[in-house]
Amino acid sequence: MVIVLDKNIRNEDKQRIKTFLEKNSLRVNEITGEEDTIFAAVGKVGIDPRDVEILPGVHSVIPITKAYKMASREFKKDNTVVNIRGVKIGGNRVTVIAGPCAVENREQIMESAARVAESGAVMLRGGAYKPRTSPYAFQGLGAEGVRFLREAGDAWGLPVACEIVSAEHIPEMLDYIDVYQIGARNMQNFELLKKVGALGKPVILKRGLSATIEEWLMAAEYLLSSGTEDVILCERGIRTYEKATRNTLDLSAIPVLRSLTHLPIIVDPSHAVGIRDKVPPMCLAAVAAGADGLIVEVHPTPDTALSDGAQSLYPVQFEKMMRDIEVLAPVVGREVSHRSIPRAGSIRGTTSITRKSGGTDTPLVCAYSGGRGAYAEQAIHRYYDDEAEALPLNNFREVIRAVLDGRAECGMLPIENSLAGSVYENYDNLARYDDIEIVGEATIRIEHSLLAVKGATLDTITSVYSHSQGLAQCDEFLARYPNWKHIETNSTSSAAKLVESEKDPTRAAIASDLAAPIYHLETLKAGIENSPRNYTRFVLIARTGEIICEAPNHASIIFTVANQPGALHSALGLFMKNGLNLTKLESRPIQGEPWRYVFYANMSLPEGVSSSVVAGERIRNALAEMQKMNQDAGVIQGVRILGIYSVKEIS
Ligand code: PEP
Ligand code: MN
Repeated sequence: MVIVLDKNIRNEDKQRIKTFLEKNSLRVNEITGEEDTIFAAVGKVGIDPRDVEILPGVHSVIPITKAYKMASREFKKDNTVVNIRGVKIGGNRVTVIAGPCAVENREQIMESAARVAESGAVMLRGGAYKPRTSPYAFQGLGAEGVRFLREAGDAWGLPVACEIVSAEHIPEMLDYIDVYQIGARNMQNFELLKKVGALGKPVILKRGLSATIEEWLMAAEYLLSSGTEDVILCERGIRTYEKATRNTLDLSAIPVLRSLTHLPIIVDPSHAVGIRDKVPPMCLAAVAAGADGLIVEVHPTPDTALSDGAQSLYPVQFEKMMRDIEVLAPVVGREVSHRSIPRAGSIRGTTSITRKSGGTDTPLVCAYSGGRGAYAEQAIHRYYDDEAEALPLNNFREVIRAVLDGRAECGMLPIENSLAGSVYENYDNLARYDDIEIVGEATIRIEHSLLAVKGATLDTITSVYSHSQGLAQCDEFLARYPNWKHIETNSTSSAAKLVESEKDPTRAAIASDLAAPIYHLETLKAGIENSPRNYTRFVLIARTGEIICEAPNHASIIFTVANQPGALHSALGLFMKNGLNLTKLESRPIQGEPWRYVFYANMSLPEGVSSSVVAGERIRNALAEMQKMNQDAGVIQGVRILGIYSVKEIS
């Protein structure tokens, strides 16, 4: 049962309730949610909820009706986010675990780790004890494989996941493995579940070959009730009559589980389809269906793999797939997890974002311009998985100042919108402040909603507030209400704030749906933007030299050209000669120098470079080469690299 405690319960009462439950042979977990604190109590013997209800400090008692208790949504309203050495599964992110089916030798796993890390995986998989159908097939390297896996993971900063097939192996795995995997064949090996659960470490629980969703959740219950809180469910295909694929991937399990359980859900399309070329489309489908992550088999040379070669991706296939996932993720409101390597003493990057100072963990502070509920705030929460503290400031310049004076470690600035074009002010800001640099980028889908106070309807509205962009991007919807007055505000969030303060059912704001609860407004209509393909690209800025961007594939520079005929033409030629693929060129007037311009150039990875790890170096070299050539030609003046960072393509 779930016991919701009174908001201002006294400590003695809390303790008394706990003791009462424990005396009745119930195990008690205290869960502090956003709104309430609850005791989740489970046990073999049932007690009468009325006996609990009458205890002082109890607000209400909700019996859990499902056979599985701790795994159920009734037990815990908020989604569980499992944190594996800084890599999170659950929340807003899509977390990709990749690696070979089995660790075959040291070289193979080292190479696998390098290739998957370069392409964006944040965790490494590899089996050391393989539950093979045939006793004559490769059974895995055992304890040696476990050690190789750890070494490879450490070399690339990847936590490691490894299947455990017998509790006997716990001693040789304990110091090496971050996430234990319970394989499909062992899903109902209850003795194994109890022993692994008791380790209190994260566990990936694969769905059994012919297990129903309820049986699967009951298996999760074994793990949870034995001592771990961190169970990740993994759909890996089930047996059906279909023979075209190895198993049938049950993607509907994702939304079904989402309502039944708070546990994170990942998908393993490799074992589901069993055919390499069918894996990437199913990975994309899983992300679209709301999976929190993927576990994918990738092998440096699948044709010589000792197990599951036919379903293992070539590294290039995996790389392409990761790029596709980057494109898809913002459409479904998610951000792909990334690794990043911190420079000593500076802030950590995107996968782990608390920094230790003075012995206490404090969240990273990321500044933005706008009020609570602004799209930039959404971008920060997406990028940092809700863990950074978003610092609202009045304007873009203040954001930069906050980064420079250390009030914030980084700042999120909008740079362009797919419908409205560039945010010129921020291009100018990037040029003006030469001790900041771009360290990352976030693209979010802009979905506007019409918000109003409780009781308002589309019929009561007569005026609509929003930022000019918000009004322009919803003009087709607004055209249906020709009598509405349009009133511009500084930002979409200030529009929402205004509507809240006026308490007038004739007013509405166009803003993000996320602003509704913040300003106590209701959504009259969601998705009112003209085009659903409406994205805003934000750049993440930090003080120069504070963050190392892992796996960069993109650079931004600014430059001016000599005032002579053909100078721009020749300058562009230098980019081409050095293999730099210009993806955007923007010009802005130089203040105080009429008719002279500064050019902003974005460029992607030089041609022919497939590994993004070397791309940063290549871009740097190409730029240096370009500058050398330029010494003779003299066409480019004042080049400054704004940042070399990782970019996700949106098409
Ligand atoms: C594996 O992940 O290598 C594996 C054996 O998977 P499953 O248990 O899903 O068959
Ligand atoms: Mn396998």
